[in-house]
Amino acid sequence: MDYDCIVIGGGHAGIEASLAAARLGFSTLLVTQNPDCIGALSCNPAVGGLSKGNLVREVDALGGEMGKLIDASMIQYRILNRSRGQAVQSPRAQADKQAYRMAARRVVENQKGLSIMMDTVTALVVDPGAGATAAPTAPLGRAAGVVTARGHRIGARAVILAAGTFMEGRIFIGEYDAPEGRLGEEAALGLGNFLRCMGFPVGRFKTGTPARIAGDSIDYGKMERQNGEDPRPF
Ligand SMILES: Cc1cc2nc3c(=O)[nH]c(=O)nc-3n(C[C@H](O)[C@H](O)[C@H](O)COP(=O)(O)OP(=O)(O)OC[C@H]3O[C@@H](n4cnc5c(N)ncnc54)[C@H](O)[C@@H]3O)c2cc1C
Repeated sequence: MDYDCIVIGGGHAGIEASLAAARLGFSTLLVTQNPDCIGALSCNPAVGGLSKGNLVREVDALGGEMGKLIDASMIQYRILNRSRGQAVQSPRAQADKQAYRMAARRVVENQKGLSIMMDTVTALVVDPGAGATAAPTAPLGRAAGVVTARGHRIGARAVILAAGTFMEGRIFIGEYDAPEGRLGEEAALGLGNFLRCMGFPVGRFKTGTPARIAGDSIDYGKMERQNGEDPRPF
């Protein structure tokens, strides 16, 4: 085996998965399409809100990194729903996009036992002998590594898939649509088809970005100012 664990994708989930595996002492490889985009925030660069605010704190309690990254890069902090009951109040921080991404990459790069590789995983290596006792409807075999677009075949005891919005991702801008993972970044093609051939159902969910407004078209005098509050750490 080349590694104990391979994590596919250096987004928010992949960061936590690869750090957790490496911190538990497993030799870990993070394969991601573009290391410069490790920890990139897709759209509204905010961490928190009703459900994610709790999630970030749970990740933190488990030794994860997201809470620390947003604490280090926040530019505004608010408790949402202050006028309502405590059960629906939640912290939300706006991040400095570049600072967040750079801090995330620094943590991943400096983690002992964790290596980063720039490539796209197109298929898994499957050990057909293992996992034959799985439920009758489950595909037989066990993930034993990855195959990449640049022709590498790397073995591992476990593979974690954290492909986010990139697996067979498509972007829609008005009437225009094309394969893209996020604006300006390539979709990850190949693995979706591989998983389909292995018997897994594969689909896509929609995510939406509201239309952007040109700043110089806004009369700020007619708008209400929302100040941040004193931040409490995530
Ligand atoms: C336009 C847009 C707007 C969004 N707005 C918001 C928002 O405002 N707030 C919010 O909370 N969420 C938003 N999201 C959702 C956002 O994508 C998720 O919250 C978050 O990024 C998910 O993290 P993730 O780690 O699962 O995946 P991602 O952040 O999508 O990261 C996946 C990573 O895996 C890599 N990867 C994927 N497949 C492969 C492969 N086969 N081989 C190698 N590398 C691979 C990709 O290159 C990428 O770096 C938005 C998404 C999009 C596309």
